[in-house]
Amino acid sequence: MFEQLALHGGSPVRPLLLPYGKQQVEEDDIAAVVEVLRSDWLTVGPTIEAFEEAFAHFVGASYAVAVSSGTAALHAAMHALEIGSGDEVIVSPLTFAASANCIIYQNGTPVFADVEPDTLLLDPHQVEEKLSARTKAIIAVDYAGQPCDYDALKAIARRHGLAVVADACHSVGGRYRGRAVGALGDLNVFSFHPVKHLTTGEGGMVTTNDAELAQRIRMFRNHGVPTDHRQRAAHGSYYYEMVTLGYNYRITDIQCALGLSQLKKLPAFVRRRQELAARYDEAFATLEGIVPVNVRADRVSAYHLYPVRCRLDALDLTRDAMYAALRAENIGVNVHYLPVYLHPYYRRRFNVGPGLCPIAEAAYKRLLTLPLFPRMTDEDLMDVIAAVKKIIRSYR
Ligand SMILES: *Cc1c(COP(=O)(O)O)cnc(C)c1O
Repeated sequence: MFEQLALHGGSPVRPLLLPYGKQQVEEDDIAAVVEVLRSDWLTVGPTIEAFEEAFAHFVGASYAVAVSSGTAALHAAMHALEIGSGDEVIVSPLTFAASANCIIYQNGTPVFADVEPDTLLLDPHQVEEKLSARTKAIIAVDYAGQPCDYDALKAIARRHGLAVVADACHSVGGRYRGRAVGALGDLNVFSFHPVKHLTTGEGGMVTTNDAELAQRIRMFRNHGVPTDHRQRAAHGSYYYEMVTLGYNYRITDIQCALGLSQLKKLPAFVRRRQELAARYDEAFATLEGIVPVNVRADRVSAYHLYPVRCRLDALDLTRDAMYAALRAENIGVNVHYLPVYLHPYYRRRFNVGPGLCPIAEAAYKRLLTLPLFPRMTDEDLMDVIAAVKKIIRSYR
């Protein structure tokens, strides 16, 4: 049977575009937000602490500090570790630019170390190659939802006196050697953007077991002032001091009400993502032309993304052609990520270009992210698989 591709004028696999990711906000989430809107505290109120405590409990960390975005959380992490001019921080290139931009905010220098070919996670051996006397920290990115090899990274960090920051924006709900994501790094960073596992609209969190780092981040999100408005109001005092240069990176109680309500559903969200990913794995196991990212036996991925690599050698088809063909079938595929140092800003500022991390670059040329979100139905999933098979058949 020959099916005409939608790209060539045939009818698409589905009539409406299936996005690659989407939030799930329900009536009880909305009611929780409305309740805070009717309360006295829209910001700096008790719902922020309630969300922080519930989140810390969920991930098994001693402290959680909520901020206005995942990017603010990364910046706060760099500030808390006192990254400054002349300091180098080793980071994965296969990530959203914010993972590395945070180093530059603090006038540090990002140093890109290549990824492992099967998992696309920061490779501890490559990290070791990039160490210098100026190295202060490692930012490991749990790409697609799979935790990095934190035992190996922390062993390197211990030997050289470095801190490990886990950019866990993809991996809340994931596990590494039986331990939950959230206390695997010295600092662990999360995002609550609508495509992530749980949303507050915009929002972020840092978790840690280190009381001093947590306090530094609390101060940093509030202009560098150690007390907040509510604490002063409770003491009837007007006096405050600014002790370091901070920002207004506060999250609101309105957002935290949404976060608290979403957090209750997080286990179900993660389970549904894992279930859908397992069905993709099964469908692609024997399909020539598509290679899913490997998840190691000692990890549980939380599956923020479901990236696959197109086997360009097996098919007369480029990644971009596959992307266009899937979009025409109304499958909302995406690409994660252009290696950070290939962005024009990085090329110019750090005088870098192709060749720096060959494995990440080769992966980028073949990567496609398939739709994956909790509300996706079994029929949606079948549409994606049908579209992938239709395209591969027509190109073989
Ligand atoms: C989403 C994301 C961020 C940034 O989070 P925002 O909340 O959008 O600022 C950082 N790192 C990674 C890996 C992300 O996916």
